[in-house]
Amino acid sequence: MVGDETIFALSSGRPPTAIAMVRVSGPRAGDLLTALTGSLPPPRTARRVLIRDQNQELIDDGVALWFAGPASATGEDVAEFHIHGGRAVLAALVRALSAFDGVRPAEPGEFTRRAFENGKLDLTEAEGLDDLIHADTEAQRRQAVRQLGGLLGDRARRWRAQIIEAAALIEAGIDFADEGDVQGELMAPALQTIAALHDEIAEVLAAQGRSERLRDGMVVAIAGPPNVGKSTLINRLARREVAIVSPHAGTTRDVIEVQLDLGGYPVTVIDTAGIRESNDPVEQEGVRRARARAAEADLVLWLGEGEMTGDAVAASAPVWRVRNKIDLRGGEGDGGPVDLPVEPLAAALRQTDGAWGGNAAFEISALRGQGLGELIAAIEDFAAQYFASGETALISRARHRTLLQDAAAMLQRSLQHDLPAELVAEELRLAGVALGRLLGRVDVEDVLGEIFSRFCIGK
Ligand code: GDP
Repeated sequence: MVGDETIFALSSGRPPTAIAMVRVSGPRAGDLLTALTGSLPPPRTARRVLIRDQNQELIDDGVALWFAGPASATGEDVAEFHIHGGRAVLAALVRALSAFDGVRPAEPGEFTRRAFENGKLDLTEAEGLDDLIHADTEAQRRQAVRQLGGLLGDRARRWRAQIIEAAALIEAGIDFADEGDVQGELMAPALQTIAALHDEIAEVLAAQGRSERLRDGMVVAIAGPPNVGKSTLINRLARREVAIVSPHAGTTRDVIEVQLDLGGYPVTVIDTAGIRESNDPVEQEGVRRARARAAEADLVLWLGEGEMTGDAVAASAPVWRVRNKIDLRGGEGDGGPVDLPVEPLAAALRQTDGAWGGNAAFEISALRGQGLGELIAAIEDFAAQYFASGETALISRARHRTLLQDAAAMLQRSLQHDLPAELVAEELRLAGVALGRLLGRVDVEDVLGEIFSRFCIGK
């Protein structure tokens, strides 16, 4: 699939924009650039050009760049047009490009897929690139940029090379099966390498922490009976209207989520429907979903007003009790902010409970904003602790974890006492395949489509 067709796409944002970048990759990129701008600029140098269509009609006054393959992002010949980002300008350029034979618009992720297939990056690096483009918070960006830089890929390549080397020694030993001494001499260092490799991979797996969650965020569920102010709180947190706030119980029937950036960490806050018994089937479904979502949360804020009795959420996550509407304590109906000191109840409880996971309690007014600073700071601290191990981890996806687990298991099996050399070699071969799949080098057709289709067009 690489090589024949020349592809193009708008690689910058949705028009209109001040400047737009249209990228072309493939064998005809040079022809196109020459035809539209009159000549080929020197490679890797921005040059101001007049862009004209086939009828010599001026399309735009812009900048063009030329990257001769393989020294380009995709490994193929690449041309870039930086033009004014108006819709009609883009439409005219697209028309002019499409008029050439063998030139077509790119599919999502097709540039990166070509880069991958030309060996410009491995699959873990391509995934890092995808994560970098979708990174919303600092922690996500840091993780993605490390992965794009080959942090996991370089390790996996080294492991794979060592496994292949060990397998070669063991296979050489098979030829000397009749001469036990020679076989033993060949196998001993190989088995030592394998044992060390196994431990290294096991360590990486153990250090994975919460790294997979960095991609989609730590989940905080806001739960509690109807009308206690859950929607009001989530709106406050999101600083925009995401949930319908209503004085009538049971308005928030569905689960509403907002993505927050708390101190650089991605946090998904979920507003659950009022968890309560109901005969209304629609409401029952809302209640069922709310319970399920709260149960998979990493932290539950259990909201109540007045006296707070036992919590109704069976979650493995810590539950923080949050008493809302403290502004009402100062007497009804005066309208203005009530100047109640926020009791340091939270701090006191945290002290008595010790570790995170205890029932910290907070007193807030979601409506007036009292006590929210303390609550948000505590969630931020919790997120920092939660992600602490994940930040330095090499693994960011379930795909990585599964393949490394497979590789570690095969290495472990290859070390079994008295395993015939042929079987040791076979286990090593399989471990090598698992790492090859991680890097996207072997047997990955099934995952490639899925990974690249999620990329943006033009990437
Ligand atoms: P939910 O059913 O738990 O989502 O509750 P809502 O957020 O819809 O709030 C129910 C009602 O309580 C609304 O009229 C809110 O304006 C009101 N409310 C929410 N938080 C506060 C608060 O801190 N103080 C006061 N006085 N009213 C609040």
